[in-house]
Amino acid sequence: MQKNYQTNYQSQLETLDDDRLNDVTIAVIPDDLWSEKEQPSESSAENQLISIKQSYFEAQESPDEIAWMIHELAHCQNFLDSNSPEDYQNNMRTFAYDDLDSEYSYPNNPVEKYTFTKQFQYLKQQNKSRDDILKMLGDHYDKEDFPFFNKLLDDVYVQ
Ligand SMILES: [Zn+2]
Repeated sequence: MQKNYQTNYQSQLETLDDDRLNDVTIAVIPDDLWSEKEQPSESSAENQLISIKQSYFEAQESPDEIAWMIHELAHCQNFLDSNSPEDYQNNMRTFAYDDLDSEYSYPNNPVEKYTFTKQFQYLKQQNKSRDDILKMLGDHYDKEDFPFFNKLLDDVYVQ
């Protein structure tokens, strides 16, 4: 029997439809070595490397329901699309929206705008509602990050 998690990750990869991403390395990290508290995944786009917490990666019940994999793959893609590694880093330090009163350029920066938009578009395709997405993000993000997410969701759920 095919494991659910493999098909789920495969469909996220295929959605981005970018052969360059076949070379991204996925490192599955045992839970006791996973130091990241909030997120079950992270990307090192410069190294085209995605790290993911083992128990999260291998979950059989609703695997990666919030689609972090496509978010991390989109980071790798955005890095490949940027003119230089410096450009990518600078984009992480720049505000995507100046009118949000953000104290920090995370997540309100052009790189996260790109990656979260890909993630939200994918979730919409999976028949997740805007409210489903806001609820899932609530487990990971603070209230002050939501004006940014709502701007992206306005675009994704327009129509
Ligand atoms: Zn990100």
